Amino acid sequence: MSEQSIETDMIIVGAGPVGLFAVFEAGLLGLKCHLIDNLDRPGGQCTELYPEKPIYDIPARPKVTGQELIDDLLKQISPFDPVFHFNQQAQKMKKLANNNWQMTTSQGEVIEAPIVVVAAGAGSFVPKKPKYPDLEVYEEKSIDYAVYKMNKYKDKELVIVGGGDSALDWVMGLEPLAKKITLVHRREGFRSSPDSEAQFKKLVADGRVDFVMGNVKALNGPEGQLTSVGVETTDGDFVEIDCDYMLPFMGLKISLGPIAEWGLNLDKKHVEVNTETFATDTQGIYAIGDVCTYPSKLKLILTGFYEAAVMCHAAFQYAFPDRKMATGYTTTNTAIQERLGV
Ligand SMILES: Cc1cc2nc3c(=O)[nH]c(=O)nc-3n(C[C@H](O)[C@H](O)[C@H](O)COP(=O)(O)OP(=O)(O)OC[C@H]3O[C@@H](n4cnc5c(N)ncnc54)[C@H](O)[C@@H]3O)c2cc1C
Repeated sequence: MSEQSIETDMIIVGAGPVGLFAVFEAGLLGLKCHLIDNLDRPGGQCTELYPEKPIYDIPARPKVTGQELIDDLLKQISPFDPVFHFNQQAQKMKKLANNNWQMTTSQGEVIEAPIVVVAAGAGSFVPKKPKYPDLEVYEEKSIDYAVYKMNKYKDKELVIVGGGDSALDWVMGLEPLAKKITLVHRREGFRSSPDSEAQFKKLVADGRVDFVMGNVKALNGPEGQLTSVGVETTDGDFVEIDCDYMLPFMGLKISLGPIAEWGLNLDKKHVEVNTETFATDTQGIYAIGDVCTYPSKLKLILTGFYEAAVMCHAAFQYAFPDRKMATGYTTTNTAIQERLGV
């Protein structure tokens, strides 16, 4: 193992429903998993795009919302203690002399394992960037698209931009520790859950946060450090708001990103796999869920679950040929039940 590397059995790129279920199947075989996702929570499309919408085609679940499905998957995999690396993109892969793969993330974490599973859906969700003048001067210094460490904003003046769940949730999350928060949104209506909107409006009514309806037009401050932002209000006025940090939450777009650079066989932004094993053309690298492609592929959660089960058995035999694999039913195999803690 290289010095600062974390070593594990399986690195899973993507904590969507399929990546999560792969943890379960791997756990039954006694394999430990680390998951990397550039979102700040598990669930992939289910929690990012349709948390409150019901899904009707999960076997034996006549109706379950995106969020409920992810909550239950997390409960199901909890006996296996998966390690999550959120808010970071799986970026660089290197083959080591011991045959392990070494993955480096956008936050500089280094993880190595004999098995890498690409469960990346349509790719990374990346923030849509606003079109402000001189934006790049302030990015990474005083404009953040995600909250990595809340303490960074303690006693600071913040301008949060947007009208969706992320914007409102972070107004609520940061209000107790920030010096002052102003939410800038271009109209009165919000694209958030009614509950978040009600909580936000109460904070405004109580005078604990400010709300300015309008569009950001100017970023001010020397050497990338914001001191204020200029906002043109919907009434046509121009106001200047003091600010140390700005957090724009304008939604997300999806991009395959670094996976396209890993030398895997791709077919129209999907990774080609062998359906007997869900192996890619590169030894030790597997692909499951929406990101993989083969004749007759169905982009559904249930197919991803099946792919995860077949992949884990194949990957176990590839990476640990000398170990005995615990196969059989969860109802009757005592070794599996011990792992599940039941
Ligand atoms: C509105 C809507 C409704 C749907 N309804 C249904 C339904 O009723 N039934 C059904 O079966 N399916 C449904 N789907 C499809 C279903 O959501 C997908 O099939 C499923 O989410 C695929 O799961 P996944 O784990 O493969 O990928 P995803 O859910 O896309 O998760 C992939 C994760 O990988 C992360 N990622 C990607 N690249 C990287 C990287 N380099 N580094 C770090 N992280 C990375 C992403 O951030 C993401 O979180 C629906 C989809 C939508 C949009």
